[in-house]
Amino acid sequence: MHCPFCSASDTKVIDSRLVAEGQQVRRRRECVSCQERFTTFEEAELLMPRLVKNDGTRQPFDEAKLRAGITRALEKRPVGVEDIEACINRVKQRLRATGEREIPSVMVGEAAMAELRKLDQVAYVRFASVYRSFQDINEFRLEIDRLTESEDQPDQSAAPVSKTQRKRSRSKGPESPDLFAEES
Ligand SMILES: [Zn+2]
Repeated sequence: MHCPFCSASDTKVIDSRLVAEGQQVRRRRECVSCQERFTTFEEAELLMPRLVKNDGTRQPFDEAKLRAGITRALEKRPVGVEDIEACINRVKQRLRATGEREIPSVMVGEAAMAELRKLDQVAYVRFASVYRSFQDINEFRLEIDRLTESEDQPDQSAAPVSKTQRKRSRSKGPESPDLFAEES
């Protein structure tokens, strides 16, 4: 990079080491022309893409909202805090992995569903039922059937969920589908 003192285009690295638990590289540089020294920090670009809603408006990615949705789906499930955090991080990774600076807001819900599906199937069905706001019980059943079909583990625990889930969605009312505000 250019020297910040004399703008010469050539600077050399005289020291380089990892800092911030390996999340950053700190480089000590010296200008070839004026011999001034300065420090640079390099770290991975971890900015989340902005979300584009259906109506074209933009909004920043809201991690608190994602966490709330995932935590709600995992309520009273045997999943620890560490696994929940890891799940949230994987969702964010998926979104960052697009390499886009803007993504459709629906991708957040889809990514969350994909990760919840691997983590806890009950939570997945809960999340999907809110997120996709199933129109009727048949649609809901179809989703459970789909889940059961693609299930590769021997433990098929999806069936008892539907009853509690039905009660849950009914008591929650129609305000819940707006998880990530992708409809407007
Ligand atoms: Zn210089």
